[in-house]
Amino acid sequence: MKKRSIKARVTLWYTSFLVAVLLVTAGFLFLTTSSLSRQQMNRQLVNAVTDTVGAVHFRYGELDSSRLDFYQNGVSLFLYDQEGYLVAPKVNLGVQVDALLEDQTLKTVEQNGSKWLVYDLYAVDGSTGFWVRGLFSLTESTRISSLLWLLMLLVLPGVILIAAVGGWRITRRAFLPVEQMAQTADAISSGSDLSQRIPLPGKEDELYHLGATLNRMLSRLQRSFEAERRFTSDVSHELRTPLSVIRSQCDFALSPQAAADDRQEALVSISHQCSHMSATVSQLLLLARGDNGTFQPRWETVELSELWEMVCLDLAAQAEQKGLSLQWQLEPDIRLTGDETLLIRLLTNLLANAIGYNRPQGSIQVRLYRRKESAVLEVADTGIGIPPQQLNQIWERFFRGDPSRSGDGSGLGLSMVRWIARIHGGDASVQSVVGEGSIFTVELPLKREGPGSSSK
Ligand code: ADP
Repeated sequence: MKKRSIKARVTLWYTSFLVAVLLVTAGFLFLTTSSLSRQQMNRQLVNAVTDTVGAVHFRYGELDSSRLDFYQNGVSLFLYDQEGYLVAPKVNLGVQVDALLEDQTLKTVEQNGSKWLVYDLYAVDGSTGFWVRGLFSLTESTRISSLLWLLMLLVLPGVILIAAVGGWRITRRAFLPVEQMAQTADAISSGSDLSQRIPLPGKEDELYHLGATLNRMLSRLQRSFEAERRFTSDVSHELRTPLSVIRSQCDFALSPQAAADDRQEALVSISHQCSHMSATVSQLLLLARGDNGTFQPRWETVELSELWEMVCLDLAAQAEQKGLSLQWQLEPDIRLTGDETLLIRLLTNLLANAIGYNRPQGSIQVRLYRRKESAVLEVADTGIGIPPQQLNQIWERFFRGDPSRSGDGSGLGLSMVRWIARIHGGDASVQSVVGEGSIFTVELPLKREGPGSSSK
């Protein structure tokens, strides 16, 4: 059997409930009002009969009817003698009930299709006994209650229909966001377009929170799919050149014409390409893990001044080999919570660029100082500088400025610098004048909430 939708079930449930409530209420009202009106009629009848008995007087055995009223408040009254013969009124409208006279008894009698409520009372005035009978027509009240029932039977289905249709529409409107969510989810899964988002209802209700949670999940999924796609395309793009170099070097080394020296040279070139490839792949892996949020930095208290002095010392020899002077000025005791390996890489990348893109006999200045709540690192060089139109592009992955000057670079160094700065809650920027040099600045907050909150 097909399962009913929630909308149908809700509508069915409350409509049945409404029918039950209406029927019970109507039944209760009907019974109470008819019992109350019956009590009222009984009282009216008994009072009219009792009043009439009090007004009956016989003078010398003859009835004095001057003070008698034979129709009071809907009650028709009749006077009988002791034997049960009608004494008064002489003229009546044919309203007579043949039932036996019974003292102080209330009864319902049906005669000629009419229903009557009957009350008889026997009394004695002087020495004359007499009966007073009161009649109350029940036909009218029965007609009214049947009419009421009929009216209810006609109106009730209408009321129920309006409630059911109205309720259905309201439930449908309430469930509309759920339907939209399902449609969007369907569109996403069939078209694999993870950039779509579930429309959120205006009010911040349960459905709003459900939609927002699903949207957050979609964003995470989208990020990790995009990171994977980007990683795959980056890797294939970056490894194509070194792989083809290795391949041609291998072919050359294996050819019978190649001399021993040539083979040696080919092997050196292959080894060089291999280390370049492995460096690129490891940087890419790191960036990809950062992209999809799976990278977990190893947070610890880092003594920045000492750490970066070590890096400067390491690279000073390399700078000297190129005829460059590397000086550093590091304010002591600057500590923050960070990932030591990443922070070493940050300065190494900046210094490698400052060495690589410098002019002969140029210089490099490294400064570390405290500014407000941040540690500021500046790496200034006297190199070729960066054209203004490239100042934004240099942070992009695989961007290389001048191919003739970029040498072995993979174009990942600065994107990694910025990523590391951001993962530490800071940022990196550059100022540069072509032909004069560049100053790279990295600002890292000394204190930040919740170390471990990674960012892209
Ligand atoms: P790579 O150095 O491997 O090419 P990077 O991401 O480190 O990649 O740098 C991107 C580009 O930014 C470089 O190709 C270069 O054009 C420019 N660049 C980076 N650092 C400097 C610098 N200190 N001086 C001049 N240009 C620079």
